[in-house]
Amino acid sequence: PLSLPPPPPPGEQDAASLPPYAGSTKFDQLPISSRTKDGLRNAEYVKMTDIQRASLPHSLCGRDVLGAAKTGSGKTLAFLIPVLEKLYRERWGPEDGVGSIIISPTRELAGQLFDVLKVVGKYHGLSAGLLIGGRKDVDLEKQSVNDLNILVCTPGRLLQHMDETPNFDCSQLKVLVLDEADRILDVGFKKTLNAIISQLPKHRQTMLFSATQTKSVQDLARLSLKDPEYISVHEES
Ligand code: ADP
Ligand code: MG
Repeated sequence: PLSLPPPPPPGEQDAASLPPYAGSTKFDQLPISSRTKDGLRNAEYVKMTDIQRASLPHSLCGRDVLGAAKTGSGKTLAFLIPVLEKLYRERWGPEDGVGSIIISPTRELAGQLFDVLKVVGKYHGLSAGLLIGGRKDVDLEKQSVNDLNILVCTPGRLLQHMDETPNFDCSQLKVLVLDEADRILDVGFKKTLNAIISQLPKHRQTMLFSATQTKSVQDLARLSLKDPEYISVHEES
C-alpha cells in the first residue's frame, strides 16, 4: 500500500531546487503516508502554518533544517511529521530500536510534544517514550528504553540513560531534533549536549527549531550539520 514517490537519492539534492509540492498549503497535498494524514485529519489539522509550509518540503527530503518562528507558530508538527515519515519510509519496526531522538529543554515542553506525537503518530506502528526524569522510576525506564523507536527527552535524562542503561543503543539513529534549540544550545546544557552528541552517529538528519535563528558556526559544527536549510518565518508587519 505504499504510494509514496521514492525519496530523492542522496547527493542529488540541490538546495535551490524544491519538489513540486513545495507550493502546497494543505497537509493532504504533501507526499506523506496515509497513516500520518489520518493522524493529522483526526486532530483536525488541515492547513499548514507558515513554518510548516516553508520547512516540510525540505525536511521531507531528508535535509538538515534550522527553523525559526515565533512561539505558537506550529513548530512541533514541522518536525514530528518528518520524523514519522522517515521511519515509515525506512519501514522501521519494533526490533529496529531507537530511530529518532527529540530533545526538549524542559519536562513540560517534552510532555506537550509527546502528546502531539501520540495523536499524530497514532496510526503508525512505532513505539515512543517520554524520558524526562523526576516523575518516573529510572530503573523501570531502563528496562523498556531499548524497545522504543522514538525518544522524547530532556538532555539530562537522555544522558543518564546513555551512561547507565545497559545496552542502550542509538547507533541506528536516523533523525535528531532539537526543539527550542536556542535553549538547548545554551551554556547551561553545553556539557550535557556535547556528551550526548558524541555518542550519536554522524550520518543522520538533524533538525533544529526555535523562536530565534541559530547561526553560531560553532554550534552547527558541534551538531555536524550538513549544508542546512535556514528557514525563518517572520510576521508580516
Ligand atoms: P510552537 O512550537 O511554534 O510554539 P506549537 O507546535 O506548540 O507551536 O503549536 C501551537 C498551537 O498551534 C498548538 O495548539 C497546535 O495544536 C496548533 N497548530 C499547529 N499547527 C497547526 C495547524 N497546521 N493547523 C491548526 N493548528 C495548528
Ligand atoms: Mg514548541
